[in-house]
Amino acid sequence: MIKSILLPIDLNHESSWAKALPQAVSLAQTHGAAIHVLTVIPDFGMSMVGAFFPKDYSARATRETKAQMEKWLKDNIPEGVEADFLVLHGPIYKEIIAGANQVKADIIVMASHRPEMQDYLLGPNAARVVRHAAQSVMVVR
Ligand code: ADP
Repeated sequence: MIKSILLPIDLNHESSWAKALPQAVSLAQTHGAAIHVLTVIPDFGMSMVGAFFPKDYSARATRETKAQMEKWLKDNIPEGVEADFLVLHGPIYKEIIAGANQVKADIIVMASHRPEMQDYLLGPNAARVVRHAAQSVMVVR
């Protein structure tokens, strides 16, 4: 039974949901499941880089991203489909896995990679999620 679907999206790249969203919606409608849309604000990796950003950068980025996600849900989730969103911070694939655990996802639905990254069959985050997630992963090509 699928009751909880995690849909990780990169708000800057429509290709991260163009094909994955219809699959998630179809699963949600078939199974009466909820879609949890996740976006991750990547960390800087190096504290030296972070030092160049204003101190309130993280809080501001979270506020703005939450507003964008609210609008995204209104614009993209069809009526009658239960959906909410999460905004997490950190390394993308790790936060996708943490988000999947948080919402007790039965399945993660995600696009394989950006179309312009033709050398990849699987992008770096999609590959790591497939390798490390405890849940089933539907990689949409
Ligand atoms: P690419 O480098 O080609 O974009 P990725 O593996 O990073 O390949 O992207 C594949 C998928 O990973 C995206 O379709 C999306 O589901 C997920 N993803 C990428 N970036 C983010 C992000 N910032 N927040 C949530 N999910 C993301």
